[in-house]
Amino acid sequence: MGNVLIVVEANTDGSLRKATLNAITAGQQLAKATGGAVHAIALAKDATALANQVKEYGVTVHAASGAQFEHAIVENWAPAIAAAAQAISAEWVGGAATAIGRDVLPRVAAKLKAVMASEILSVEGSGADVSFTRPMWAGAVIATVKLAGPVKCFTVRATEFAAAEKSGAGEVKVFAAPAQDKQLSTFVGFKEVKSARPALTEAKVVVSGGRGTKGDFKPIEGLADELGAAVGASRAVCDAGWQPNDLQVGQTGKVVAPALYIAAGISGAIQHVAGMKSSKTIVAINKDGEAPIFQIADYGLVADLFKALPEMQAAIKAAK
Ligand SMILES: Cc1cc2nc3c(=O)[nH]c(=O)nc-3n(C[C@H](O)[C@H](O)[C@H](O)COP(=O)(O)OP(=O)(O)OC[C@H]3O[C@@H](n4cnc5c(N)ncnc54)[C@H](O)[C@@H]3O)c2cc1C
Repeated sequence: MGNVLIVVEANTDGSLRKATLNAITAGQQLAKATGGAVHAIALAKDATALANQVKEYGVTVHAASGAQFEHAIVENWAPAIAAAAQAISAEWVGGAATAIGRDVLPRVAAKLKAVMASEILSVEGSGADVSFTRPMWAGAVIATVKLAGPVKCFTVRATEFAAAEKSGAGEVKVFAAPAQDKQLSTFVGFKEVKSARPALTEAKVVVSGGRGTKGDFKPIEGLADELGAAVGASRAVCDAGWQPNDLQVGQTGKVVAPALYIAAGISGAIQHVAGMKSSKTIVAINKDGEAPIFQIADYGLVADLFKALPEMQAAIKAAK
């Protein structure tokens, strides 16, 4: 009872995606609370190398290899994950709330006739009383939900769980996946946005710009590069086409929780705040002293970003 199955994701170079480690931690907490064991399922063209990386974290990894798993086409992934869940009598099936996790886990839940909680923030209680917290209404409300039924699915907000630590005690088992569902979608191509800056969801420091930049991101990028930071943006910026959509932070963008988040020319709308309020230290630069962003900022500077950011950049450079 209480067995947990976590879906593994890889980066395009085959390395283990960090968000999977956060999901494994959630799985470990659940297993501890309900008396089960943590398993994982790795799907890839040849899943052995990926599974070997995961087993370092003390879990039993079921490695399902096949050309149909090379790309995360969910019609192919969902039946394999559901079959693995049944094979280990999993009570819980989860993964990170990434684009893939959000896509595949509801399908797995449907296949298993399971209930589902999306984007969990914590695991509470133990035994039959285990519950999750999860955000509602763009994070304005935190709900505590208890799932009923023999099988339960979940996705994990990666920023709310520490990455699992290596224990070296896991094992890899080959899993023969069943035939895929009718192929409704086909992989056509993958265009990766390459950047010399750190990935937005993994960076320790993020410098974000809003409509106040009027589309001129030079001061944002200058400060980001001085700090070795990732660049983020509000939706207003992405909707205007000033920056690509993958830089958007917020309810309908990425959720980040860096050690330092600098918001410049961003008003602090609830939908933006939903994606960055877990940051350890928040610095706001806005020329309107009444802007809502100052309500959640640890440090606030009422200033013109075109003056303040270059000054900050120069001061940091001088201090190096
Ligand atoms: C369903 C839904 C989902 C959404 N999802 C998201 C989301 O994921 N992410 C997101 O960001 N938004 C999201 N939004 C949009 C959100 O409501 C806001 O419209 C948006 O965040 C505003 O962006 P902004 O702060 O850049 O622009 P504005 O609200 O226009 O604020 C610009 C700020 O810049 C300041 N400013 C202007 N010039 C300067 C200057 N020279 N120096 C310093 N400050 C200056 C102004 O004082 C102002 O506070 C969503 C909205 C909806 C309805």
